[in-house]
Amino acid sequence: MNRPLIVANWKLNKTINETNAFIEVLIPLAKDTNDIDIVIAPPFTALHSAHLALKESNIRLSAQNLFHEDKGAFTGEISPLMLVDVGCNYVIIGHSERRQYFQETNEIINKKIKAALKHALTPIFCIGESLAEREAEKTFDIIRIQLAEGLKEIKPEGIIIAYEPIWAIGTGKTATPEQAQEVHNFIRNWLLSFYGKDASKIRIIYGGSVTPENIESLMNCIDVDGGLVGGASLKADSFAKIVNYRRRKS
Ligand code: PEP
Repeated sequence: MNRPLIVANWKLNKTINETNAFIEVLIPLAKDTNDIDIVIAPPFTALHSAHLALKESNIRLSAQNLFHEDKGAFTGEISPLMLVDVGCNYVIIGHSERRQYFQETNEIINKKIKAALKHALTPIFCIGESLAEREAEKTFDIIRIQLAEGLKEIKPEGIIIAYEPIWAIGTGKTATPEQAQEVHNFIRNWLLSFYGKDASKIRIIYGGSVTPENIESLMNCIDVDGGLVGGASLKADSFAKIVNYRRRKS
């Protein structure tokens, strides 16, 4: 297993004040967690204040999206350059909600991953199948296409894959550890055949109704290197329990 990574995806939640209040509670609760990487992804408007509040901590900052150009006439967009400027180290790319509500295709996602890497931002590249696709036994076909098109002409260094079965996002329906491991193992093998042995270092994290109760069983899977947490990351004490899953055990 690679060094674990736990990411909080706040989606369209939290004002600046709420972000600062969350961070104030989280920092002391997460300060002894030195054996995993902890990342929070607030909305764009709270990134600057989050950066200032996290400065002396072991918690890093992510954006939830970016545009692939550095600058220009693209009203309403945010560039990788701006994310670096505001203190981000990571960026979530290709979340299923962006694919579903904002028509992001694998081709667009590929451009975004390239743009992030160009500016040394670590892309958290999301992939996953819908319920209909799983029921039609198309999970591996969908994952294969998303990987091949999303990672086209991209080197393995500095990428993170987030496997997020769409049917498990925000539904309270977590994939069982066996279901998660099966797909993570498929992704690992695909990466190994695409990139060679360096791919063993690529972190593959799981997202989809991760909670303080199920994190440990998911993290016990050999190919699960971490979690991307939505709903359960909105309360600092709940997210702190997730990042402290190892310490709670001992
Ligand atoms: C997500 O938004 O990436 C996610 C996994 O959400 P939730 O944990 O609420 O299912």
